[in-house]
Parts: sequence; C-alpha cells; structure tokens
Amino acid sequence: MTDRRTFLKSAGLLGAAAFVLSPTRLIAKAFSSSGAGKSGKEKKELELQWCPFEAKMKHVFTIANSSRTTTPIVLTRITFDGYTGYGEAAMPPYLGETINSAIDYLKKARPVLKKFKDPFMIGEIMAEMDAITTNNTAAKASIDIALHDLVGNMIGQPWWKIWGFNPANSPYNSFTVGLDTAEVVRKKAKEAAAEGNLIKVKLGRTEEQDKMMINTIREVTDTTICIDANQGWKDKFYALDMINWLNTKNVCMIEQPMPKLMLEEAGWLTERSPLPIMADEACQRLSDVRHLYGHYSGINIKLMKCTGMHEAREMVSLAQALNMKIMVGCMTETSVAIAAGAQFAPVCQWTDLDGNWLIANDCFHSSTVENGRIIPSPDAGLGLKMNKGVNLKYSAEE
Ligand code: MG
Repeated sequence: MTDRRTFLKSAGLLGAAAFVLSPTRLIAKAFSSSGAGKSGKEKKELELQWCPFEAKMKHVFTIANSSRTTTPIVLTRITFDGYTGYGEAAMPPYLGETINSAIDYLKKARPVLKKFKDPFMIGEIMAEMDAITTNNTAAKASIDIALHDLVGNMIGQPWWKIWGFNPANSPYNSFTVGLDTAEVVRKKAKEAAAEGNLIKVKLGRTEEQDKMMINTIREVTDTTICIDANQGWKDKFYALDMINWLNTKNVCMIEQPMPKLMLEEAGWLTERSPLPIMADEACQRLSDVRHLYGHYSGINIKLMKCTGMHEAREMVSLAQALNMKIMVGCMTETSVAIAAGAQFAPVCQWTDLDGNWLIANDCFHSSTVENGRIIPSPDAGLGLKMNKGVNLKYSAEE
C-alpha cells in the first residue's frame, strides 16, 4: 500500500514537473543558461513594429452577404536579440477591425510588450495583450504570430515539431470555389480538383441557387465537397433537408449551417445530420468551445478570431479532450498567417487554408501544398521567406 501511494505521489509529481517544464520552457531555460543569442551586442528588448498592407484579391470574392476586391491587413514584426519574427492581422470588414483600429491597438501594446524581458513567456505575454482591450482579436493575433515566429527562430525549429505534431497526418486542404457564372464555377472546380484539393462551396442563398451551384460542380468533377452555409439557413427542417440532399452529392461536412445564436437548433441538426456540423461564426475563442460541445460535431479555429496560435493550441487540446472534430480556417491572408495556421494542419480533420492563393500580391512564402495537403515548412519558426522584390516598411508610427 505504502509503495503504491509513494509511486502515485512521485508519478503525480513527475506529471506536474512535465507540465511546468513544457518544451518551450525547457528550451528557454537552456537559452538563458547558455546565454545564447545572435550576438552579445544586439538589443535584448521586444521591439514591435508594423506595416499597413492592402491584399489585392485575384478575383472578386463573394460570400453570402458581401463581395470585395481587397482585404486590409497590418503586418507586424518583433525583433529581439538579433532575431526576427513576423506576424499579421488580416481584417475582412465583417470582423469589425480596420487598419486604424489595429494600429491604435498596436501602439498601446508596444510598451506593454517591452516590459517582458523573455519572449518565451508567450502565455503571460498574450494574457497581458488580451487585457489591453476587449476586441482587436486580429491585432492581438498579429503579436502572437510574430512572437511564435521569433521564438521558433530562436529555438531553430518549426512549431509543428516543437508541439510534436506529425505533418504526415495533415488532411486534404479545401479550396473555395466562389459564387460565379456557371462557366467560371466549372473552370475553378476543375482546377481545384486537378490539384488534389477538396472543394469548398459557400451556400446559403435560395434552394434553387444552392442546388444549381452543386450540380454545376458535379458536371465536371466528383471531388469531395465541403459546404459552408455562413449562417444562411434559418429553418432547421429546411437545413436538414438540404443536408440530406447534399449527402447524396459526395459532401463531407457542413460548416455553420444556421445563425450562430441558434445553438439549440444546431444541436437538433447535429443529432440528425448524416454529415458532421462544424461551428465557425459560433466559435471565436477558447471559452466558446465548451458551450458548443454537444451542439456541434466540431470547431473551425481561425487565428484572427482567437488571438493567435497560443489560444488556438489550447482550443485544439480542449476539442481533442471533448472528442470534437477540428479544422483550421483562415481569412484572406498573406502567407504569414497561413504559415501560422499550417502548423496545426497535422491535428485537423480538415484544413481550409487557401487565403494566400486568393491574393495577387503575397509578400512572403512558407508552407506548400503537395497533392492537396498543406505541408508546413520544415524551417524554424513559421519558415517565412520574404518574396523577391518585396519592400515592406515596418515602423512604430502610422
Ligand atoms: Mg466559414
């Protein structure tokens, strides 16, 4: 009995020690004791700068409620001890953030960030960043992503590896075929299928329009389709009829079929649906996940909504513990934020990381797509390389 108790006690302590000394903390410890840095002369201060950027869409982007040709973005950069990390806030208008609101937030965040002497304390840093304002989730994510890139660069490893994820487990990525003329839809669907992607289709208009969109794609390819209704179906019986029809068309999942506040109806639908029902608009942050449990089959994690990689990693753990499915999605983003999302690909059932393919003026490159799967870069941090000819002016001003 005593032996067993001693064993349990020490096992518990070992567990606790493993929790406290997480990989980043262990490596941080190694860093501080060896005094490793790029040079002894570099400034050991977390220096935040930013650069407003307008992403130009290759094609007009149409979802259930709006169309647009550009997306406002603020790129960020954090330097420390000769190392650099890049981040991004991508702000499609429906999120309620703008270049001005992001820069206002970053100006407030800059001195707070400077108080921290150790970039490895990402959890503590992000808790303080979160406390500065109630909203600004994309602006907060731009700091979180830059911090992760910076720390990964200091460690010399990519985040999927630091977290112990196996990129061989990455699922097929989906490519959105937008609402368009039948001819363009057929062309886009063919292209997406040829590259091995799943096809993502935005529905939520009239029954006739929605069915015509699916039938048009099915004229040219049998490739599996992911549906995003963007809250477009207001009646649960109608939604279930549509899902049953879609189930005969090689569709694999349905994202946000009904308005986010219709939680009970979502649960009713999930119980009866032959296809998994994923929460997107209903899932913003870690605290939402427990409310969605039992009502949705899984969650769509977007870094711009959940303040970045640190909280996304926690959402992944909670969803896994609740046996909920996980997908990682994106906004129209440059390769900076896509590379951050790509670190999570190995633990997803689906990835929807096509934002960088939709823009004409991407400024970085990192993760690649091989036979329809996202392959996160094997390089340190987020593996970001600036594209040739790109000249970004980062500063701590307007
Ligand atoms: Mg969605």
